[in-house]
Amino acid sequence: MSFEYPKHVRFVCKRCAICCGDTEEKVRQILLLRIEAEYISRKTSKSIGGFAEKIEGFKPYAYLMKKTREGKCIFLKDNLCTIYEIRPLICRFYPFQLENKGNNKFAFTYTNECSGIGKGPQLKKKFFENLFKESARIMTANEEDARCQ
Ligand code: SF4
Repeated sequence: MSFEYPKHVRFVCKRCAICCGDTEEKVRQILLLRIEAEYISRKTSKSIGGFAEKIEGFKPYAYLMKKTREGKCIFLKDNLCTIYEIRPLICRFYPFQLENKGNNKFAFTYTNECSGIGKGPQLKKKFFENLFKESARIMTANEEDARCQ
């Protein structure tokens, strides 16, 4: 598998939490793999139904994170993620996305919506390699777990 990544992009998280909720332009969909929902449930002792709803048609994702009336993720408190260490893959990736170009080729893209883009250090290949490996590891674990069901 190979991936393309954006060259010369600078990024540092500004902890603005824009990615953790709806904006005027965007309704945020915080998608969860089944193993991620189960893991968060185990670690927080909350039922999955307490923080996510089951969805169809978004494979490989099986759940959608619930949001407050203000449109913020249910785990966001005082602009901080209360499950940061176990947050879902989609949150670890933001502001980057990984597009499957087919034939085992992938490409990283990013959204300029994020206030951290253009700030901080210029990202090297290693940064995207780590994201790519993390994605492959979690997606494979999710598939294997689904096979055992
Ligand atoms: S899980 Fe954490 S990082 Fe992800 S949207 Fe919720 S508060 Fe933000």
